[in-house]
Amino acid sequence: MIKQDISFAGSNWVWLNGELVPWQDATTNVSTHGLNYGMGVFEGIRSYKTVDGRTGIFRLDSHIDRLFQSAEIYSLQIPYSKQALVDATLQVVKANSGGQHSNYIRPLCWFGSGISLMHRPVETAIIAWPWKINLPEERVRAGVRVAISPWKKIHHSMLPSTAKGCGQYLSSLLSVRHALMNGCDEALLLDASGNLAEGPAENIFLVKNGKLLTNDETSSILLGVTRASVIRIAQDLGIAVEIRTLTKEDLFAADEAFFTGTAVEIVKIKDVDGKQIGSGQTPVMEQISGVFHAVTSGVNRSYGDWFQLVPLDAETSPADVTEVAMANASD
Ligand code: PMP
Repeated sequence: MIKQDISFAGSNWVWLNGELVPWQDATTNVSTHGLNYGMGVFEGIRSYKTVDGRTGIFRLDSHIDRLFQSAEIYSLQIPYSKQALVDATLQVVKANSGGQHSNYIRPLCWFGSGISLMHRPVETAIIAWPWKINLPEERVRAGVRVAISPWKKIHHSMLPSTAKGCGQYLSSLLSVRHALMNGCDEALLLDASGNLAEGPAENIFLVKNGKLLTNDETSSILLGVTRASVIRIAQDLGIAVEIRTLTKEDLFAADEAFFTGTAVEIVKIKDVDGKQIGSGQTPVMEQISGVFHAVTSGVNRSYGDWFQLVPLDAETSPADVTEVAMANASD
């Protein structure tokens, strides 16, 4: 039996290939193609407990759309519809503590057992666990210390950066390890030309003279859902947004710099390779993150379609399916 790592505590049920199974039973064979070659695609999504006590999943449709786009790029045919995976995500969040806390949600699709690339079965899982943020809280307040990675981001002519493919994350892991070994919290990867790409699991934004700057897929980045949300919030606040290639000069001359991503949400960058960014004050970032947190806590409802509520017991069928699966599993 697989022992549950402490980081997954609270994740009691996993949706695996169409049904909810207890965490310990959500396993795959060691001959799995995805394990041997990294052939799989995934998403990272967050659910939030809102002020009215409901749990909402942030931009679930956008994440499921990107999952299917990633799969399409790798010719991996997900054997479920988008709607089925939306329902399954709601179901797994509800199954784990009735959706009573904020979760990090990980849909994952991979080529199943076998060597041949063609005609592989595609397996699908959705895991949810209560994971607040993957950085120490004092760092979130003070800003993260960042190290530029000696490993560059793989150029988008080599691997499709707009796809969230499992194997692609080896470069993220190398960059994080380097950052941690050098006393930093997070890494920044440059693209093949030496311009800014992104963090290991975050997009980067700079602020210069009140204008918000970020790059796009021509800098070999994943087009983040949080990135798109931040751009939209900034535009609604009347902040000018410029999307272009960003250089190291832009970074070190910036007034503010911050990362965005589902896991870290919006986090200030304090310094990069020991050099402080700007004065240390981040008023533009705070204006944007204030709106972002008001949206994710359910206080600001002006972005209504960004939130999908986890159904209450009486509301919908996913809950019923959950109950049946749980009853079967405990038989
Ligand atoms: N870049 C990479 C490489 C990532 O893995 C992520 C996390 N999914 C992001 C950027 C940010 O994307 P999102 O805002 O959709 O989480």
